[in-house]
Amino acid sequence: MASVDVNMVDMDIPNQMGALKVDSTSGEEMNDYESTDESSADESSLQPRGLTTRDLPTGLCYDERMRYHAEVSALSAEAVHPEDPRRIYYIYKELCEAGLVAAKGFDVMVEQPLLRIDAREATEDEIRLVHTDEQYRFVQHTSRMTNEELIDLAEHGDSIYFNKLSYFSGLLSAGGAIETCKTVMEGRVKNAIAVIRPPGHHAEAEQPMGFCLFNNTCIASKVCQKLYDVKCRKVLILDWDVHHGNGCQKSFYNDPNILYISLHVHMGGKFYPSGPEGGMDRCGVGAGEGYNVNIPWETKGMGDGDYMYAFQHVVMPIATSFDPDLVIVSAGFDAAAGDELGGCNVTPACYAHMTHMLMSLAQGRVAVCLEGGYNFRAISRSALAVTRTLMGEPPDRFEATSATDSAVRVIEDVKKTQSRYWRCMYPRAPTSGIYGGERLHDIIRAYQAQNLFNKYKLTELLILRDKISKSFDKQVLGSISYERRKHLIVFFHDPPDLLTGNNPLAAQQKPHDTWMLDGSQAYIQSAVKHGIGVIDVNIPEFITITADPSVDDKKHAHQEIAYNSHYTDAARTEGEKLASYIWENYIESYDFEGGIWLIGAGSAFHAVWKLVTEKENIHTRLNGVIGFNCDHPARQINPNSNNAYASSWFREHSRIYVAKNHEIWRRAEQLGKTPSKRYGKLFKSPETMLNSMMQKHLPEVFDFIRETANLQADSDSDADLPIPMPEDEGNSPLKGSAFSSPPQTRPLTAAATAQSSAALRGALSPPATGNAAQRPSPGTNTYPQQGTTPLGGRSPLPPPAQRALGTIPQSHSPTSPPAYLTRPEQQQHDTGS
Ligand SMILES: [Zn+2]
Repeated sequence: MASVDVNMVDMDIPNQMGALKVDSTSGEEMNDYESTDESSADESSLQPRGLTTRDLPTGLCYDERMRYHAEVSALSAEAVHPEDPRRIYYIYKELCEAGLVAAKGFDVMVEQPLLRIDAREATEDEIRLVHTDEQYRFVQHTSRMTNEELIDLAEHGDSIYFNKLSYFSGLLSAGGAIETCKTVMEGRVKNAIAVIRPPGHHAEAEQPMGFCLFNNTCIASKVCQKLYDVKCRKVLILDWDVHHGNGCQKSFYNDPNILYISLHVHMGGKFYPSGPEGGMDRCGVGAGEGYNVNIPWETKGMGDGDYMYAFQHVVMPIATSFDPDLVIVSAGFDAAAGDELGGCNVTPACYAHMTHMLMSLAQGRVAVCLEGGYNFRAISRSALAVTRTLMGEPPDRFEATSATDSAVRVIEDVKKTQSRYWRCMYPRAPTSGIYGGERLHDIIRAYQAQNLFNKYKLTELLILRDKISKSFDKQVLGSISYERRKHLIVFFHDPPDLLTGNNPLAAQQKPHDTWMLDGSQAYIQSAVKHGIGVIDVNIPEFITITADPSVDDKKHAHQEIAYNSHYTDAARTEGEKLASYIWENYIESYDFEGGIWLIGAGSAFHAVWKLVTEKENIHTRLNGVIGFNCDHPARQINPNSNNAYASSWFREHSRIYVAKNHEIWRRAEQLGKTPSKRYGKLFKSPETMLNSMMQKHLPEVFDFIRETANLQADSDSDADLPIPMPEDEGNSPLKGSAFSSPPQTRPLTAAATAQSSAALRGALSPPATGNAAQRPSPGTNTYPQQGTTPLGGRSPLPPPAQRALGTIPQSHSPTSPPAYLTRPEQQQHDTGS
């Protein structure tokens, strides 16, 4: 009996019947069955029979009237706006030529062609599910404006143009998305593609922008939730357009029933729509917290391997856990290979694979809605690959499947960010605080500071907290009397790397399995040994900023947010501010007649680069810039920067070591050119890790410093300055350098201890000249009178910026030493000689 039924379903009964049968078992009957424990024959009658959706057609929404929206002012073929009306026509034509559409003049080459879904104008009520009344009226009003008014409007809008039919096309586009999603939800098609324009994902509730009038996918998801209630409670909007869908994110930022996942080029907020909103730290608010997932690429040029990696490690695990009732794809094809605007390399095969993976969700209810994509060839081929996959054709094979280092890094951080909300995300971000733990970064910096004090007498330089993030507390150290040395090295570096095995489940690291790699220490050692003043600046990876109370997103107002200095502008800006502060308060007003060199390693190079680019005439004070770059963006100094002369100066006075596997070399090889001189004097390092690079090139760097030092300063050495000497380890790479060899350990004079700890000062011999109590360290807001310094003729003036910054909180006075500087055994050591 049961087997006959199965055959009948297969042969005669329409597929929808199968679906109905499945549904009928899911309610009370199912409960009856479980309680009565029926025989296996009955069990089989409860199973779905045949294939319930496979033989349904795939839907296609296309309406040529959406091409009416065009620029009023497009006069020549070259000046056509990239959001060109022909975009949708070329996609449609490609589908017809592939034999997938029953259209006049084209042969159908499949058993079941695409089922046409008619677009219609969205109603005002539908539009207003997402947009404000004002925004709706505004777009509506454009249909009654004169051409002149429309051109004027385009000039003042944010990447948007209008003609008299824009409103109509916009309504059709939104209505097309609605009808496409409805047709999918109602099971009349198994899935569908909507070839619609104008696009929608940038359109915000109260304003059109970025070529978008109404937010098509947002409106369609709201309509479906309303119409189908529990059957369409949860919607996934997956946005693979190369741009961040700011409109979608904003619309559902507090909505737990619409999961928005976007993969986009972000470039630290420099790519359209610029700003921090597309950052990975934007995860939603209130009930919607955790339902906004941004995968922000650091650079353009992302390809199949990167998108697959993101899908396998973030998109699919989170989407599967969310378990949507409907999947809407905001399908821009501007990440496609050949799209100049996007500058990425996603192939049609990759779009097919992404589609294929999404089809495993929501019982296959996938509605693909066109967003951006500006290369006709690329969008047509990509859309065709997606459509064929939707129709049941397996995706093509791949050529390249490995992710770039940059993608792996971004995905690791996205996983950590999202692990707060999704059980499936590993490795877990360690939760601070609850165990009363201390951040290892701080422990390491304290260790470094103590070590640098013990060995080279480096002490903390005060940074005023009201101007600069508190994350920089204890991060800036200066060697003793650095300001009276003839030579100064200012070293901006990242925190040391930890070499470790890790446990993805518990996020635990075993200390015995973990090594700290700190390439900066050898530089400080070498500098101090040769009597060069040192300022050592550690730029933490996370920088805490108190959010501006005026920010839109109320949850973040007044809140302290930790920004990653690798990815976010907000954090980088703090690094720039710090560099500028150090320059103005600790360097600018001192002589350093032998020369000043800036060294920047890793992400921290950004601060050095910014200083050279923007601080007016700074290059006249500098003798050289040294950079180490593994996988960070290369920085150019443009001749039109604030500091025009810096550009040519930089070429001659820099040594920038760049890892051999850096993108810049690959690109240079591709183009058959050497990288621009604006990057400075580049050296290809055989090393690929920052610390090994720094180690490798140390001798060359000091050779460079020796070669570029001001000669007249060399003969008159720093011999009269007291220099605390580390034990000679006998392996200095600088033996026999042009720099005077510093004298062996001498007692510290008062001048030398002024910026050291108060505890130390008490135990020291009286000052040789001047008055120690009146000779504060740089960084305090009082300065010695002319002529009172031990080195007459080099009295520093108070730096102007320091004077402007006002008073220093007592608790941060540099004369109150950090606890680790006051241990008795250190005093013993320091005063022993
Ligand atoms: Zn786009």
